[in-house]
Amino acid sequence: MNRLLERQIKKLLGDEYYKNPAFQTKVFQDFLESVDQSYSFKEKEVRLLERTLDLSSQELNDANKQLKKQNEEIKKLASLDSLTGLSNRYVFNNNLNLSLKRARRYKRKFSILFIDIDRFKIINDSLGHRIGDLLLKAIATRLKRCVRDSDTIARLGGDEFTLLLEEIRTPADAGRSAQKLMEELSRPYKLEGHELMTTVSIGISTYPTDAENIVDLFKNADTAMYQAKESGRNNYKFYHYSMGVKADEYMALESRMRKALERGEFELHYQPQLNLETGLICGMEALIRWNSPEFGLISPMNFIPIAEETGMIIPIGRWVLQTAACQAKKWQEQGLYKGHLSVNVSRRQLQDPGFLDIVDEVLKDCQLNPKFFEIELTESTVMQRPQFTMKLLKELKARGIYLSIDDFGTGYSSLGNLKQFTIDKLKIDRSFVRDLDNDADAKPIIEAVIAMAHTLKLLVIAEGVETEEQLAYLKGRNCNQIQGYWLSKPLPAGDMEALLKLRKKYI
Ligand code: C2E
Ligand code: MG
Ligand code: MG
Repeated sequence: MNRLLERQIKKLLGDEYYKNPAFQTKVFQDFLESVDQSYSFKEKEVRLLERTLDLSSQELNDANKQLKKQNEEIKKLASLDSLTGLSNRYVFNNNLNLSLKRARRYKRKFSILFIDIDRFKIINDSLGHRIGDLLLKAIATRLKRCVRDSDTIARLGGDEFTLLLEEIRTPADAGRSAQKLMEELSRPYKLEGHELMTTVSIGISTYPTDAENIVDLFKNADTAMYQAKESGRNNYKFYHYSMGVKADEYMALESRMRKALERGEFELHYQPQLNLETGLICGMEALIRWNSPEFGLISPMNFIPIAEETGMIIPIGRWVLQTAACQAKKWQEQGLYKGHLSVNVSRRQLQDPGFLDIVDEVLKDCQLNPKFFEIELTESTVMQRPQFTMKLLKELKARGIYLSIDDFGTGYSSLGNLKQFTIDKLKIDRSFVRDLDNDADAKPIIEAVIAMAHTLKLLVIAEGVETEEQLAYLKGRNCNQIQGYWLSKPLPAGDMEALLKLRKKYI
């Protein structure tokens, strides 16, 4: 008999397996179907088969009843995820249905949390599936410790877990649970001599605030989880209705953005960057704002993702490149500024076949020397299609454009990869700077990034520097530049011009 199959069945049924020939018949039928024609039966298997065929009909009847009972047993066992022993999708859905009914009747709230392990694939690929499985088990054990008996925790497959939190008072309760889970799961794991660190991204959706049926609750938790990943992983996000803007709303927004572009409702603000050696402004980043007569000043975080999805980022991005390049030229001609002026370019723009032509046209139009122009690509954009991006970056570099990687530390770069990109500067993501005061991990990460960048002969700038202490720390670690509220918020062109005129030494 197939040893693995036999062992599994024995484990499931114990002695019943030997006492119940009908069950063995069933097992054999399944088994016969699964083996190929050339399978040669062992003596024990043949004997077992003969005995099952000799059963009288009465015996078979009894055995059938027994079989039914055992089927129930198996069904129960099948409701568990075999790797982790957590509930599976079937049980989760069942419990979710019950929760929904109760919550409707008694006007209660509940939340579902989608928990996805960050970079699990890398662990699996580099250390093998066995370690991957051990990690999943260890995570399951910790998850079980974190939840109440009344909550359901399930593994839906792969590295995806879900948690059903019953009877919460406000969505903030679910947020606190998510925070607790993140802390618990990010402690190191010791697995067969490997010490592993991992983080999770969590999406939360709550009944009835975010959705009133199961399909939408699932969909929303999933959307929120992807948002958590997009915004740098290792965090949790509540579903927000704007994440799930429907197709017709997208269309409306698209046409609003198109009009906004025509009516000149977009503007660029400029945030200066400081050279920590000279104490002088050495660069600046152009950041878009939408000054909408309807909604007021809208942050790029709220419309760039939609512009990317609808394709409106192409004309908007072109306007940004053009406005920034001409502004840089103007300040140069006035003798106010000789540093780089950087613009953010999104994934969708980069993949547009006309992108290089747009860059060329803009530089020509504004008569700007490309060496004063800087393009920022986020780490995730660069790493998503490394070969493609590498080629494009070479093209940009050949024109003399300065290149930097934005939000560094939140993506997938490996040292080997980075070396192959023709980049000049790394921008340490502001989440690391923000965590300097309270997260023991932030310092070693920042120090490692600075050391690595310098080895690769790249400059490093830290984003989001807000305090004197952060500044002193970064200066002490030989970080080359900083950008952040400590120096200045992003300013409208007029204010930026006034700042440049001061020619101030800041440190
Ligand atoms: P980013 O490129 O990482 O830009 C830095 C963001 O951090 C800016 O947010 C800036 O205002 C903010 N920031 C700077 N210093 C500090 C600080 O000390 N503390 C804090 N809390 N925040 C600080 P903003 O302007 O809201 O832009 C957000 C993101 O939107 C940008 O992140 C960039 O990814 C995107 N974005 C902005 N403008 C454009 C654009 O023209 N095109 C594209 N494709 N994306 C853009
Ligand atoms: Mg940027
Ligand atoms: Mg950034």
